[in-house]
Amino acid sequence: MTSLLTARGVCRSYGRHAALAPTDLEVRAGEIVALVGPNGAGKSTLVSILAGALAPDDGRVELGAGRPRVGWVPQQPAQYGRLTPRENLELFARLERVAEPEAAAERLLRLVDLPDDGRLGTQLSLGNQQRLNLAIALLADPDVLLLDEPTSSLDPRQRRRFWELGGEVRDRGGAVVFVTQNLEELERFASRVVVMLDGGVVFDGSIAEYERSPEADVFA
Ligand code: ADP
Repeated sequence: MTSLLTARGVCRSYGRHAALAPTDLEVRAGEIVALVGPNGAGKSTLVSILAGALAPDDGRVELGAGRPRVGWVPQQPAQYGRLTPRENLELFARLERVAEPEAAAERLLRLVDLPDDGRLGTQLSLGNQQRLNLAIALLADPDVLLLDEPTSSLDPRQRRRFWELGGEVRDRGGAVVFVTQNLEELERFASRVVVMLDGGVVFDGSIAEYERSPEADVFA
């Protein structure tokens, strides 16, 4: 399988606390990878490093052939609170050098089904903030979508839509990596599961292997 994004020996400490021990992770075309583990296991740290948003202390992240594009949906709102969703999307489209920023913003507002009623980012519900985060990540037409607990505030219908869009990235030869605390979401969407504990990967295998493994207890 084609490798899209590979972390080699990436690690990160905060002060004297090692949040992430040297870790390898290869993300391949066609995969939907669930990243699970207790709070503080290092999942967000690893995803932020994969996204290029956080520099590792050591190790490196390599892009596969053709320089795949990477989209990141962080846990916290990534938008400007004093702009409307449309203004946010137009701004990020310009930053990403997307052709025709206004048209791109319009297309994404519709794609994630966001209301455009003049409300500012800070006035949006958490669910709409998450949808705007997703729209921002989709602007650059990513080959790899990195999602950090993206659906925690979404209702079931919005969650389905979210996953349809994730599935589209996979279906066109991309990959999705998502952090989740939700067993149902994992069983439904993941093709591969990576379990983290205390800053390291303790399991990495297919969903079928995961279901037979003792690490499946993380949700118990
Ligand atoms: P997870 O996503 O699995 O909950 P994180 O990657 O957020 O784990 O955190 C891993 C560890 O690093 C935790 O012990 C957390 O408290 C610590 N940590 C994360 N971000 C920071 C930060 N900015 N400053 C200090 N410690 C941090």
